[in-house]
Amino acid sequence: PIRVRFAPSPTGHLHLGGARTALFNYLFARHHHGTFVLRIEDTDRERSTKESIQAIFNGLEWLSIDWDEGPFYQSERLDKYKAVSDSLLESGKAYRCFCTPQELETRRQEALAKGQPPKYDGRCRSRNDHPQGPYVIRFKNPEIPEILVEDMIRGSLSFNGNLLDDWVLVRSDGYPTYNFAVVVDDIDMNISHVIRGDDHINNTPRQITLFQALGASLPKFAHIPMIHGSDRAKLSKRHGATSVMAYKDMGYLPHALVNYIARLGWSHKDQEVFTKEELIQFFDLDKVGSSPAIFNTEKLLWLNAQYMKNTPSDELSELVKPFLKPVLHPIEYESPDSPPRLSEIIEVWKSRSRTLQDLANSVYPFMDRDFSFSEDVLSKHLTKTSVPLLQAFKDRFEHLSQWDKPSLEHVIHEIGEEFGLKLSQLAQPLRAALTGQSVSPGIYDVLLLLGRLEVKQRIQNALS
Ligand code: GLU
Repeated sequence: PIRVRFAPSPTGHLHLGGARTALFNYLFARHHHGTFVLRIEDTDRERSTKESIQAIFNGLEWLSIDWDEGPFYQSERLDKYKAVSDSLLESGKAYRCFCTPQELETRRQEALAKGQPPKYDGRCRSRNDHPQGPYVIRFKNPEIPEILVEDMIRGSLSFNGNLLDDWVLVRSDGYPTYNFAVVVDDIDMNISHVIRGDDHINNTPRQITLFQALGASLPKFAHIPMIHGSDRAKLSKRHGATSVMAYKDMGYLPHALVNYIARLGWSHKDQEVFTKEELIQFFDLDKVGSSPAIFNTEKLLWLNAQYMKNTPSDELSELVKPFLKPVLHPIEYESPDSPPRLSEIIEVWKSRSRTLQDLANSVYPFMDRDFSFSEDVLSKHLTKTSVPLLQAFKDRFEHLSQWDKPSLEHVIHEIGEEFGLKLSQLAQPLRAALTGQSVSPGIYDVLLLLGRLEVKQRIQNALS
């Protein structure tokens, strides 16, 4: 059976790379009707925090990446690692090492000075005494000249086994090292495929020899290429936000981000937009490439805009709320007009908004009369020459008996003739006066949403 795991170390935010590893494991499991295990690798006692564990859960939950088994915590499995290290000691495949950090450092420097690789010299391998004091447990590294890693993405990779030393399995505080705990757990949890970032590729030879020493069969390995920024350097803060939740805070929709990160390294023909079901249906490791994926914010924005457009306005009304500033100066409506519902305002805006934050900025002037004019709008669209035009609008609007689209069309048509201007030339100053912006939905949508009283007041403000 297919069993995969996501095994984050809780030492910071859930970042895009981690989320993609989680997603690939999740999609692989769902595609093959397998099992997806969540394992928290919290054995680094200094760097692991409760907040980071929570951040991982929050990120996965926001992206709707759900797991079948776990979360398991390595910090709660110390007995398990102890049992395995005891059995390795007993069978002579591991040994206690009493060398102190200072001794190790001195010998490392000596080796470097002689031009030798600075690996542990095996001094405690054949030691028979049992000195007092702290010790680590080291793996008796079998000397295999060449270790082959058959990787599902990278192909067959050869490693020089002579470079491996008797690495540490258990630290002096009794905690397992990453390479030890990961192998014990992958065996214990019957993991069939190890799908992880290729920053771990150099750990794989060590893990393989340990799997073998423990008499376990190897899982399949799939190392997925790193995510890079547009300058082809590994993605980092410098390229923009890397934490998943920062994208939530910027107003991205979770499935847009899922869709985007799925395409970082994986493709299906030239399709760009995928439902979750399609991702599960089409995802497989044979379509994951081996070269780094380039993170492109413009493309993510484009994708987010697609999802904004296709999300029902009622749903967007809920999602946009955290982004809206409190309305301090609500618009008054002339009876029998009533305030438009948020979803009606969103309906005219959503196809022009790339994020929830964009949408919030755009709908705000339709809820609060105290909005600001951009510099650009003031200098380009609200000039002296627009005064007579705005005055004319105000007069006509005041005398309209009906505030509906046909009546408004009639007024605009008449004023156009009078001033010898086209609709676009008329609409721009009006739009600027009414919304403070130079791009907005159709002018009729704006007029109808604001209502007559507010339109009159806004033109008045713009004129004064
Ligand atoms: N805990 C490791 C990390 O967060 C991943 C271990 C693995 O997938 O083998 O990078």
